[in-house]
Amino acid sequence: MKIAILSRNAALYSTRRLVEAAQARGHEVRVIDALKCYMNINDNKPSIHYHGKELEQFDAIIPRIGASVTFYGSAVLRQFEMMNCYSLNHSAAIGRSRDKLRSLQLLSGQGVGMPVTGFACKPDDVPDLIDMVGGAPLVIKLLEGTQGIGVVLAETRKAAESVLEAFMGLKANIMVQEFIEEAGGADIRCFVLGDKVIAAMKRQAKEGEFRSNLHRGGAAELIRITPEERKTAILSAKAMGLSVAGVDLLRSKRGPLVMEVNSSPGLQGIEEATGKDVATMMIEYIEKHCHKKSKTRERG
Ligand code: ADP
Ligand code: GLU
Repeated sequence: MKIAILSRNAALYSTRRLVEAAQARGHEVRVIDALKCYMNINDNKPSIHYHGKELEQFDAIIPRIGASVTFYGSAVLRQFEMMNCYSLNHSAAIGRSRDKLRSLQLLSGQGVGMPVTGFACKPDDVPDLIDMVGGAPLVIKLLEGTQGIGVVLAETRKAAESVLEAFMGLKANIMVQEFIEEAGGADIRCFVLGDKVIAAMKRQAKEGEFRSNLHRGGAAELIRITPEERKTAILSAKAMGLSVAGVDLLRSKRGPLVMEVNSSPGLQGIEEATGKDVATMMIEYIEKHCHKKSKTRERG
């Protein structure tokens, strides 16, 4: 097959591993930077140009679109889809998962467990917002944040009010969430491929920190997940329409609670923690599903 990886940087661990795995299984593979692609969209025959030439036809695309290039990256991916190319994750599903509010609304509609969560932009009654989600302690999140930046634990009601007022001054969208204390500063990343969890790791926050992000000094290790956690992760990916997803869960007294569904889950942390060859499993999945593309096409 001819496979293209949509990635801004061929040197990234995940991109490198996917290239290696595809070549090892005898495929031709090319890394393409979506931002450098330009397209004529009102042609009868949709095409994409890159480095001054029309791109050849690919059988499959692996989108690795970073959060900061979601808008243009998704447009390029849609163009590939219009050219009848199979995409490991459909552009519509990536769009859904990138909107945190929309994703949580979708998950809640499917009965997936999640921390009690409120959304706000400029709440005209901060004390009522705090009551609505059950009072302090609360986790307050800036929607635009990643890697744990913009995620604050407000232990008292007074602290929650101050943080909310400060965030409101930034004109940002805010999420206010029940603090799951019993998670003990750990979360579980389930790597979903199709209808299976193919690898799972526990990320533990460093001492004195509740955020388990590896970028915040957290450490990852292999973990055995429960059947309920497995079911929740698979249902979450399915609700988004993602074939590949990193589903982040918290272990709570009332079972697994989903925080986030990531459409470009990184391979380094999960491969190192579990010793599994996730990249090869992704390529094998494409081999199995690529030819079905005409039946599974989705509009979005
Ligand atoms: P980001 O998308 O920036 O990584 P998250 O929402 O995943 O932000 O939060 C970062 C980390 O903070 C999570 O991995 C988890 O360890 C911790 N965390 C987030 N929300 C909660 C919560 N409601 N209760 C307990 N811990 C939380
Ligand atoms: N970007 C990583 C991923 O989605 C998460 C990194 C972190 O935990 O800080 O797999």
